[in-house]
Amino acid sequence: MIEIQHLTKSYGAKTVLDNVHLTFEDGKTYGIVGENGSGKTTLFKCITGIETYIGHIKASKSPLKDYIGYLPTEPFYFSKITGREYIQLLCNARSKKCPDLSSKNIFDLPLDQYASTYSTGMKKKLGLMGLLFQENDFFIFDEPFNGVDIQSNIIITEILNELKSMGKTIIISSHIFSTLTDICDEIHLLKNGKISRTVTRESYTALEQEMKDVFVGSRVRELGLK
Ligand code: ADP
Repeated sequence: MIEIQHLTKSYGAKTVLDNVHLTFEDGKTYGIVGENGSGKTTLFKCITGIETYIGHIKASKSPLKDYIGYLPTEPFYFSKITGREYIQLLCNARSKKCPDLSSKNIFDLPLDQYASTYSTGMKKKLGLMGLLFQENDFFIFDEPFNGVDIQSNIIITEILNELKSMGKTIIISSHIFSTLTDICDEIHLLKNGKISRTVTRESYTALEQEMKDVFVGSRVRELGLK
């Protein structure tokens, strides 16, 4: 379980997260949605301990950073490290034995090439692969489908389903609403620094319609396309 209480995060005068309360129960999958700049990534960075914050984040495993796998929107790689070395590094960080990658290279990545030279999608797939061998209890995936091809999209969906069936706790943000409704037990809507709504499976269709009304409204029609 991860319990967030009174979480506030500001950058200078700008308050990005404003007294956020959230509970993520063990074994459940949660979606975080919100417009660009609504604070999803900031929330993830606070949970993983990358950012400082005001408030409390408690977890059933401590320190949480040693049990959580975080896939950022754009994973960063140092310049002279191969894909294989990166995965080894992540295994070492958790004192886990790195498996023989020849049969586990599910995305067919060029593992002996420098990771910094990978394409956007390849970087994302390598980041995901590395996390899987760490045997984490919690996962945070920030836009895991961004920039990856359709085949990898299908594989990532299957990985998420597998982790879910293993009882892992998953927090995921995505701009593709259907990917969240398929997998999430609950979806939280982040707006103006607060959780403005929390929706369970029964109300996903209503939430999608509401988001269309709020974010799209009559804007497209007003373009007067001919
Ligand atoms: P999202 O992931 O929902 O798109 P972010 O959490 O990345 O949103 O950003 C939320 C807000 O915080 C944005 O206005 C962004 O410009 C600001 N922000 C994020 N990181 C920083 C930073 N390091 N310094 C200053 N402002 C930041």
